Formats: sequence, C-alpha cells, structure tokens
Amino acid sequence: MFSYRHAFHAGNHADVLKHMIVLQICQYMTQKEKPLTYIDTHAGVGMYQLTNPMAQKSGEAETGILKLLPLWANKNALPKLLHDYLKHIVDLNQKYAHAQPLEAKLYPGSPYVASQHLREVDRLRIFELHPTDMRLLDDNLNHINLADSRDDKRVLFKTVDGFVGLKANIPPTSRRGFVLIDPSYEIKDDYAKVAKAIKDAMIRFPTGTYAVWYPILARQESTNLPIQLERIANEAGVKWLHATLAVDKVLPTHAAGGLQASGMFVINPPYTLIDDLKASLPLVAQTLKTSSVGGFELFASKG
Ligand code: SAM
Repeated sequence: MFSYRHAFHAGNHADVLKHMIVLQICQYMTQKEKPLTYIDTHAGVGMYQLTNPMAQKSGEAETGILKLLPLWANKNALPKLLHDYLKHIVDLNQKYAHAQPLEAKLYPGSPYVASQHLREVDRLRIFELHPTDMRLLDDNLNHINLADSRDDKRVLFKTVDGFVGLKANIPPTSRRGFVLIDPSYEIKDDYAKVAKAIKDAMIRFPTGTYAVWYPILARQESTNLPIQLERIANEAGVKWLHATLAVDKVLPTHAAGGLQASGMFVINPPYTLIDDLKASLPLVAQTLKTSSVGGFELFASKG
C-alpha cells in the first residue's frame, strides 16, 4: 500500500504545474484580511533534497524545476506567476541550502509552499498517511520553525487518511478555505475517492476553493476524472478551471516510461488564475516539452 514515495518525483513537470497553481491561489487568498484555512489532504514530506539517492535515481527533477530554473537568469522578463514560482524556489534554496541563484538542491512540497503564506489568522490542516513521510514532514516543518500543534495553534498535522481529514475539517470555522487534493493514485480507488470527496465537499462547503491534481494517462480512470469533476462542479453551479501540462505523448501507465502529462482541476479558482496561467504556461510548456506533442491546455467554466 505504501510503495509510493514522492521523493522520487519531487520537482518534476507535474510538481511544477501543481505548485505554480498552489502558490497563485495562496497568494490570492491571503490578500484579504479575513482568515484562511489551508487543507492538504495528501501532504508528502514538505521539503525534498534533490541531491538524495531517490531523487538522483529517478532524475525526475530534470523534467521540471532543473530545466526551468535557468530562466531565472532573465528574471525581469518572466511572466508574473512563473517569476513568483521560481523566486519561491530560489529563496528556499538560498535560505536553507546556501545555494547559488541558479542552483536547486531543495524542492518545496505543497505544505511548505502554503506555509510561506501563513499569517497569524490563518490555519494549516495537513494530512499524510505514510508514517515515515509523516516523521520527515514533522522534521522538515520543525526545521523551518513551523512547529506542529504542540507549539503553534495555527498548524495541525495528522497521520490519517486525507479524505477523512478533509471531511472532518469542512466547512472550516474561518469559512474561507483552500483544499489541495493530491493523492498518488497508486491505488485505482483514489480516482473514485477524489470524485466522491469533491461531491461531498460541494454539499458541505460549496464556496471553498479546491485544487485536484491528477496524472494524465491513456487509461479510463484518468480520462474520466476531470469529466466527473466538471459535471460535479456544473451541477453545484460553481466556477472551475482545468489546466494540463504535457511534456510528451501520454502513456498508459507511469511505469511505461514515466509520467508525461498531468492536470489540475480547480473549483472556485481566483478570477486572476486563468490570466496568470495564460501568461506563464506557454513558456513553461515550451521549456519543458521533449517532443512536438508537448504543450498545455486551459479550460474554464462558462460565464
Ligand atoms: N502534496 C505533496 C506535494 O505537492 O508536495 C505530494 C503528495 S504525494 C503526490 C501523495 C502523498 O499521499 C504521499 O506522500 C503518500 O504517502 C500520501 N498518501 C497516500 N494515501 C494517503 C491517504 N489516504 N491519506 C493521506 N495521505 C496519503
């Protein structure tokens, strides 16, 4: 059950798409003074060493952040979202790895990206089922002085099923929430669980912002998931945005040659997200694609 370790995949093209969007939503939702609750259902370890054997073995960061980072040499010419995302990586590396501006030894996980926007009034609710990863997450968050609920009432992290954790935490008392649902999909059931979690969430907390990451594979569950999410969102009468990024031809499984494409389906997105993605994704896709079929797509609800 626990064979998936995100350390093999940290900083790949799928993380780039996901974390650019997480960063934009966190930035947007912390502009208003009102408190925000961030819920991460599948947290991973929060920070990844790109020099460790798992990352070195897979070389996946070479498909994403390590290919993109050289663009920082021309930082003043970058579109805003790509600029802000690369700045986030550069700042992390300078702060904790004493790296040079165009060097990445560390890569942030989603709890770290969110934590950088955490204000006194906000809350982080973080769930991770893998006991080893939870221990590493605890160490990593302590390392950046973001202690758990023992010391910092804003932060709660638990070794529980993220789908259960989500249900228990919505609607948040703040009534403003951003939920990232980012399973590994190593178990086929994850596709159905995601659709069910979003369906329930549309009843319990329809005004929340939800971002669902999924792998794009040439198999039915993967193709069906965004279609189901679109239907659920339309039935609930909420706005949505769907962004995909492909570096090459889509394959039937991860194992066949690595993941070539992924998507983020966002419910109740910030109204600025689509324009930020329109401005940044062409350069991201152009830089990361390995064949002529690589590229990005953006879809959004009407009106
Ligand atoms: N969100 C992380 C990020 O962006 O940095 C990456 C998460 S990784 C794709 C998925 C994580 O979910 C793995 O660390 C895995 O151990 C964990 N996991 C698997 N099943 C889970 C469940 N039912 N509830 C919570 N975590 C789970």
